[in-house]
Amino acid sequence: MAERLAGKAAADHLYHKTRERAETFSKENGFSPCLAIVRVGSKPEDLAYERGVRRHAEDAGVALTTRELPEDVTEDGVIDVIHELNSDERVTGILLFLPLPQGMNQKKVVEEIAPDKDVDGATDASRLFTYTGAGAGFAPCTPEAVLVICDEYGISLEGKHVVVIGRSLVVGKPLSMLLLKRNATVTVCHSRTRNLASITKSADILVSAAGRIGMVTGNMVRPGQTVIDVGINFDQDGKMKGDVLFDDVSEIVDAVTPVPGGVGAVTTAVLLSHAVPAV
Ligand code: NAP
Repeated sequence: MAERLAGKAAADHLYHKTRERAETFSKENGFSPCLAIVRVGSKPEDLAYERGVRRHAEDAGVALTTRELPEDVTEDGVIDVIHELNSDERVTGILLFLPLPQGMNQKKVVEEIAPDKDVDGATDASRLFTYTGAGAGFAPCTPEAVLVICDEYGISLEGKHVVVIGRSLVVGKPLSMLLLKRNATVTVCHSRTRNLASITKSADILVSAAGRIGMVTGNMVRPGQTVIDVGINFDQDGKMKGDVLFDDVSEIVDAVTPVPGGVGAVTTAVLLSHAVPAV
């Protein structure tokens, strides 16, 4: 039976480290780091994420403020709020919930976030930073959470073959860059990949970020592997499910992250850690 790589331990360690940094920041600056959430409307998934961040902000020593904007706010209205937060020195991070309502030029709005406050790595500046190390910004939180889990459980990446299923700008691509920086050998798969199972079986570490319930089955894995499930999907009963068929896969591999309680738990901890500037 595989080891269950729960996210809570990794998240708790990161909250502790973040809190120490936040205390140092507060002493040096005379105010606490503060994450500003910008939310247009009240979509249930946004509210659920916000509740999770609020639950843990204190653990991380980060203050939280929310700018709730009406569903019919204009593009310029959102940009005005972002400008106000950019120039407020007490706001150290900005999280804009996406997607924005239809009709808004989302890219234009996102690009207004100051790169040093872009805690979820949404701007082009953050991408440049993640891909080349130039300028300022952050990697998106979820790919970073994958590395935090590996570090927590002593899973070394150096020289390992990591297969990533998914090539989105939010997870797959930035994750592959972060893995390369750790000297992993990375194969990125997507919906046009042929012979997916033979590639996933060749991995030392398999990360699935496809957004397909239960697509990683026992016949895609082999003994000795670590499997990290990034997928957050909901079945017809509204139950959260990962990409990995957990019971099937955990009979075979060495270690696997659960959903819920795996990568998602760590993502919030990474988000709050980004809201504390380096001191
Ligand atoms: P996305 O933009 O829909 O990208 C999915 C990727 O998976 C695409 O590259 C797609 O290939 C590939 N893919 C889809 N079906 C596939 C298949 N059958 N075989 C191989 N590749 C396949 O999704 P995303 O935003 O990256 O998110 C991926 C998952 O992670 C979702 O479940 C999402 O909810 C979850 N997520 C979790 C967190 C967290 O905190 N844990 C954060 C963000 C996202 P193509 O490029 O060819 O279409």
